[in-house]
Amino acid sequence: MPMNTGEQAIRADLLIEDASELITLAADIPGNGAAGPRVGSSMRNLAIISGGSVAAFDGRIVAIGKTHEVRGKVKLTSNAQVIDAKGKVVLPGFVDSHTHLVFAGSREEEFIQRAEGKTYLEILGSGGGILSTVRATRDATHSHLLALGLKNLDIMMCHGTTTVEVKSGYGLSVDEELKILRVIRDLDKFHPVDVVSTFMGAHAVPAEYAGDTEGYVQHVIDDQLPAVKEENLAEFCDVFCEKGVFSVGQSRRILEAGLALGLLPRIHADEMGSLGGAELAAEIGAVSAEHLLYASEDGIRKMAEAGVTAMLLPATSFTLGLGRYADARAFIQAGCPVALATDFNPGTSPTLSMQFVMNAAALGMKLHPAEIISATTVNAAHGLNRGNLIGSLEVGKVADMVVVNTDTYLRIPYKLGINIVDKVIKRGRLVVSGGRLIMS
Ligand SMILES: [Zn+2]
Repeated sequence: MPMNTGEQAIRADLLIEDASELITLAADIPGNGAAGPRVGSSMRNLAIISGGSVAAFDGRIVAIGKTHEVRGKVKLTSNAQVIDAKGKVVLPGFVDSHTHLVFAGSREEEFIQRAEGKTYLEILGSGGGILSTVRATRDATHSHLLALGLKNLDIMMCHGTTTVEVKSGYGLSVDEELKILRVIRDLDKFHPVDVVSTFMGAHAVPAEYAGDTEGYVQHVIDDQLPAVKEENLAEFCDVFCEKGVFSVGQSRRILEAGLALGLLPRIHADEMGSLGGAELAAEIGAVSAEHLLYASEDGIRKMAEAGVTAMLLPATSFTLGLGRYADARAFIQAGCPVALATDFNPGTSPTLSMQFVMNAAALGMKLHPAEIISATTVNAAHGLNRGNLIGSLEVGKVADMVVVNTDTYLRIPYKLGINIVDKVIKRGRLVVSGGRLIMS
């Protein structure tokens, strides 16, 4: 192929070519802040190239455009991988920005209890819920938790997830929280999926502090947080701010103590009642607030003004059978960045699939497929402070990509309950093909 004279060929070791739709989510679109998350109507602009190709070298994207343009620009290395994406959609790898992935045990009996009419807080109050997972996780060794976590990451990756946030919070003591955070660190080390670590010692009040929430809050601040910092095991600090768990005042103290140690705040807010968690997220400049089913109008407006990402978790609403979802439309209309995640955990969201989250967001939240794609890629990346690295397909960004078995993205949230991911590319390397792991 002739080159433009004077132009150096760009070396590439991966080329995906001729995609029906190459969903770039490139930043440079009218009406959107330079390179921030997509807000308002720009969530529907996916910056699609039809008949598009993308080339990568050493894990980074080096060229993107129409197939003939990219072919004309790049020189493939001798061992380059070429993937024909004719008839398929190619898009950024899914970013699952809220999970509780490290735990032992299983809670299928709560499915039955809920079907019989018990509520989440009733189950928690009778020693079930989070506390039963705490018991099982405390009994498990590091290597057992690591093996379980690696298996779950494999399943996530086969469903298109290339980056995942994982919280601690089933240990609830210094040693047990550190054990979980070290597993999170090792998952990142040993698995191709990138793992982002969040400390959440304030996930529940453990049995040994029953009736003394205040004492436990002080323990989190005085003992757990400094120990986490000493080993540099977390990037974020999260709190379950909810009636009967941690109050707004207690949540503020924990998040401020985390911030003083360099851990950025995130907050489980207004999930089961309107407590003022959204307002607190705005006030302390949290990176994100999560759940938000009962966020007040004022809270939504303040979050939008402060640029806090609304991390919405429709699979949890579905699992709890609440008949209620967070008001995603209100957040979008207010100009708040909206992201979607699995909330994977053994009690209230046992799904590892971002495709299921897309299904639930389409049906439960009435979001447009384009809004759903923005919320699971670029906005989720910004919600993890990684918008400069992942979440869109642009030159210089990490080559994390998904090839989907359909020729239009409109069909992605529409296909219910099956895996329509064909291939996954993680840092420029093919790791899933035909929906299955490639062993290497
Ligand atoms: Zn959660």
